[in-house]
Amino acid sequence: MEEYVIENEPYYIPVGSEVEIFTAAYRNHLPINLKGPTGCGKTRFMEYMAYKLKRPLITVACHEDLTATDLVGRFLIKGDSVEWNDGPLTKAVKSGAICYLDEVVEARKDTIVVIHPLTDNRRIIPIDKLGVILKASSEFMLAISYNPGYQSAVKDLKQSTRQRFVSIEFDYPPTEIEKQIVAHESGIDDRMAGSLVEIGHRIRNFKHHGLEEGVSTRLLIYAGKLIHEGIEPKEACRIAMARPITDNPDLQKSIDEIIAAIL
Ligand code: ADP
Repeated sequence: MEEYVIENEPYYIPVGSEVEIFTAAYRNHLPINLKGPTGCGKTRFMEYMAYKLKRPLITVACHEDLTATDLVGRFLIKGDSVEWNDGPLTKAVKSGAICYLDEVVEARKDTIVVIHPLTDNRRIIPIDKLGVILKASSEFMLAISYNPGYQSAVKDLKQSTRQRFVSIEFDYPPTEIEKQIVAHESGIDDRMAGSLVEIGHRIRNFKHHGLEEGVSTRLLIYAGKLIHEGIEPKEACRIAMARPITDNPDLQKSIDEIIAAIL
């Protein structure tokens, strides 16, 4: 499990009472759902909490081909014998790790079947292929993330799943905190970080005018990193903000104008 242990304290600035809430949920065996747009700090928060609670963190990036078997485990051929291999969820259940299923709605529907019995007071995982039912270690925790922004009716979390988790809502950090984060993570000075955050805010206001999602804290940091490396700031912002978030030339032009007005 050593590879899953976070040895150094991850840089994380709490935005509200999320640290206390997570800790209380952990102590009470409540599964957690982190809701929020991409790139706003959910993964970093999980790393921070795993460090604080001194638990290994097993993260699974869910995708449309991810099945229950991928999570639980499978038999693999080794030489002329067949060997059982625990999947990430089983590993976490056995060892008392925190299992974080990132973007859980992306996974295939059968994954839900293995998650459900872990989220109520049974805290068990049935391993059909071995014919066993494992009880989770008391230190085990299940956390999922979910972006309400791009869910369609087909890819939504069902109420029967949602209502098994307590939810912490995440959003882009407030201005002052986001500035600090951008400066810290990219190495640029506070003034430039302030300008990037200002651009970020203005772009986020476009969300109701055709943008699917606002620019993430992650992208502001990317712009900062390019600037720190010596890329011309306006160019860096076009590459790290305007181009990634939309392919629509009109919207890109409007974003370029915002960038030019601020830098
Ligand atoms: P998500 O998991 O929501 O997609 P991440 O956790 O990867 O997003 O966040 C993107 C980046 O933003 C992180 O790598 C981190 O540098 C930064 N970040 C966001 N919020 C915070 C915060 N509150 N404290 C420190 N860094 C943060």
